[in-house]
Amino acid sequence: MFGDPSDRPVVDAASGVLTIDLGAIAANYRALQQRLAPARAAAVVKADAYSLGAARVAPALYRAGCRDFFVAHLREALELRPLLAEDARLYVLNGLQPGAEERCADAGIVPVLNSLEQVANWSALATARGTQLPALLQFDTGMSRLGLAPVDADALAAEPERLAGLNILYVMSHLASADEPDNAQNAEQLDAMARAAAAFPGIDLCFANSGGVFLGEAFRGTLARPGVALYGGAPTAGVPNPMAPAVRLDVPVVQTRTVPAGAKVGYGGAHVTTSERRLATLAAGYADGLPRHLGDRGAAFYAGMRLPIVGRVSMDSITIDITDLPDGTLKLGSLVEIIGPNQTLEDVAAAAGTISYEILTRLGRRYHRDYR
Ligand SMILES: *Cc1c(COP(=O)(O)O)cnc(C)c1O
Repeated sequence: MFGDPSDRPVVDAASGVLTIDLGAIAANYRALQQRLAPARAAAVVKADAYSLGAARVAPALYRAGCRDFFVAHLREALELRPLLAEDARLYVLNGLQPGAEERCADAGIVPVLNSLEQVANWSALATARGTQLPALLQFDTGMSRLGLAPVDADALAAEPERLAGLNILYVMSHLASADEPDNAQNAEQLDAMARAAAAFPGIDLCFANSGGVFLGEAFRGTLARPGVALYGGAPTAGVPNPMAPAVRLDVPVVQTRTVPAGAKVGYGGAHVTTSERRLATLAAGYADGLPRHLGDRGAAFYAGMRLPIVGRVSMDSITIDITDLPDGTLKLGSLVEIIGPNQTLEDVAAAAGTISYEILTRLGRRYHRDYR
């Protein structure tokens, strides 16, 4: 997929090279679409496409056939709208804040309505304009996060005038445990989804996230909303990841040194060497999205060799132990792998005690971005 770091452009000005493989993202989209057919795959491109750059990623997904794009906030949708062709549909997962309805409607963006209040506000605008406005109706099927309560489905069914002027495209919900196929919550949510949907016969369902795509046909609905799987993240915990990796991160060495036994490394002197060690300081730190929890737990890789992070992660640097490499292998400007063939997103996440989503979405703005 990606070339060896040694043949990448020398990056002498940034904190690292973030390589984003748009071809892999497109291939992941097509693979998910194939698995879902005859249902369709949307793409979740919130948080700047999980920080990979929505302005590059969304058009690449459009070229791969995607026409439905979900973001979290209206602002994200407004920024993306001019970058996508007319026939691309943009949806706002968090719904609209009071007063944002006009801007949303003017831009032709579709809100997810999560409460009766949001339903009323969107319907009022449609009525005032004497037009139909599209929307998704989200139901909370057991996550207690966003969406109408199941009793609201009954209220809407009993008083259809509450939906006046609204063109409900999908009944939607979100799975809380889809990455764990054996978790009983999946079946509970499927049941609750079926009950909510029964109040809206004939309306398509929008249900599965990345993990949901792999839970089987019952979870697919008409339109699925994968996010992390597009970017190479594992959709299901504990099994081999079927998605193609889309991100590689290499960070340059800014200094090497040899220290004796008993040397303190990094802030707080939290790491003390027990023998003579060779160390390298790398140009990225927590301000670049490398979690502080990687201190004395994570690693970098070079030529297949694991090089442990020693001491605390600093804002702009980390220090690794390079004693196991032949002397002189790494020098000022050498690139070492943080995410890549030797260390997946999930590996980094596990070392930091977090999830691949957080590693992705924190990827910093100071890296040189190389889109393939
Ligand atoms: C973020 C999000 C998704 C995408 O989830 P992944 O696990 O990344 O596939 C889908 N639907 C909703 C409502 C979300 O918030």
